Amino acid sequence: MMGQHSGNQDRLFYSFHLDDHVPKNHLLRGIDRFLDLSALRQHLRPYYSHTGRPSIDPELMIRMLIVGYCFGIRSERRLCEEVQLNLAYRWFCRLGLEDPVPDHSSFSKNRHGRFRDSDTLRCLFETVLQRCMAEGLVEGEGFAIDASVVKADANRARGPAGDAAIDWRAPGRATRAVREYLSALEENGPPITPPASMSLTDPAARWTAAPGGPAFYAYSTNYLIDLKAGIIVDVEATPAARRDEIDAIQTMMNRVEARFELKPARLVGDTAYGSAETLGWLVDEKGIAPHIPVFDKSERTDGTFGRSSFTFDAEHNRYVCPMGKFLKTSWRMRKKDPRNYRASQYDCLPCPLKSQCCPNAANRRIVRTPQEPARDVARSLAKTEAYRQSRKDRKKVEMLFAHLKRILKLDRLRLRGLSGAQDEFLLAATAQNLRRMVKWLAPPAPEPPWITA
Ligand code: SF4
Repeated sequence: MMGQHSGNQDRLFYSFHLDDHVPKNHLLRGIDRFLDLSALRQHLRPYYSHTGRPSIDPELMIRMLIVGYCFGIRSERRLCEEVQLNLAYRWFCRLGLEDPVPDHSSFSKNRHGRFRDSDTLRCLFETVLQRCMAEGLVEGEGFAIDASVVKADANRARGPAGDAAIDWRAPGRATRAVREYLSALEENGPPITPPASMSLTDPAARWTAAPGGPAFYAYSTNYLIDLKAGIIVDVEATPAARRDEIDAIQTMMNRVEARFELKPARLVGDTAYGSAETLGWLVDEKGIAPHIPVFDKSERTDGTFGRSSFTFDAEHNRYVCPMGKFLKTSWRMRKKDPRNYRASQYDCLPCPLKSQCCPNAANRRIVRTPQEPARDVARSLAKTEAYRQSRKDRKKVEMLFAHLKRILKLDRLRLRGLSGAQDEFLLAATAQNLRRMVKWLAPPAPEPPWITA
């Protein structure tokens, strides 16, 4: 006989245990095992009043945000709806079946208020990172660095018309992102290179374009990862400009060293990090082996001799040319300035190789920066087997960016301003570390009985 479900949902007594209805192999079960937010409560305590009506539990909001960033739900309104309906999300947030879910407006208030003032999201990121370290997922031997561009919540169509000066005091224009940009401008002064276009809604975002693609406003998320398990050890938001991305390397390396005493033996990066200043800082100041291609313009493409055709004689501070002649410098130059090494006109003018060496000058000149020894270290490392392995290891950070955009769906920001980008990137990196920890450490779920029977 065909049965018929009564459809009666009137409540009498339920013996319903939420835990029984969350699959044993659900991602959130694994995350819950590694997430301890007790330190976060302590961290936030000074930001709450001792009297008055109890607030929404900050741990609940943080758990909801973790759910959102782990499953690509970044709209606060949608997140509240999903937690309302999804049993696993309710279980992870420690909500009972009948507990109310916070209103989406509470998130905005806390994220832009208490959480930002107290740097709660960085505290959360570091709490998770400490757990990764305690579980042995961070080795500290090799780090990789890279940056990825993420679209800002800013529209070109709402930009200023032509070169017209922007009146930031116009009614309705002084938004949170604008106020933040103006106060940063007051503190640091105007940028060295003025931006090509500025958004009125998010002026800190940079107008940028991928090769061959359309331009857009964007921020960069900069990752510093440990190469053992691909755990993100630091993350920094910057405007999508190469100069800012390169500066982030020092910010992140110094912060990780100060906070966790982590200093790698090698740093892996792409050519963007191979400038003389960065290599000099890594080798001379930090003593870190740069597994980074040297950003080198000293080689020539017109068939004439590049710098590599000349040998540097460190003992006598001179270059030796292919004809065995010397290129010397003045000893009176300041140590931190680039030095000019010149051959003698008496050697070059009658030289049979002149057309291949300096066809348009009377004598050959070579410029040597003070960081040239550090660049030589990077060049010699590039010939080793360890370097070849590092090139493969670098893919780990690229895969994290692909995961960030495709799985966590962070290809466009929802929050505005540099601090909004920082908040979103911190939460996404925290979610990625939690997912990575589960993947490496959570035991596989027991096989269903029909397989073991
Ligand atoms: S042109 Fe001058 S620097 Fe060049 S190979 Fe000849 S002597 Fe040496």
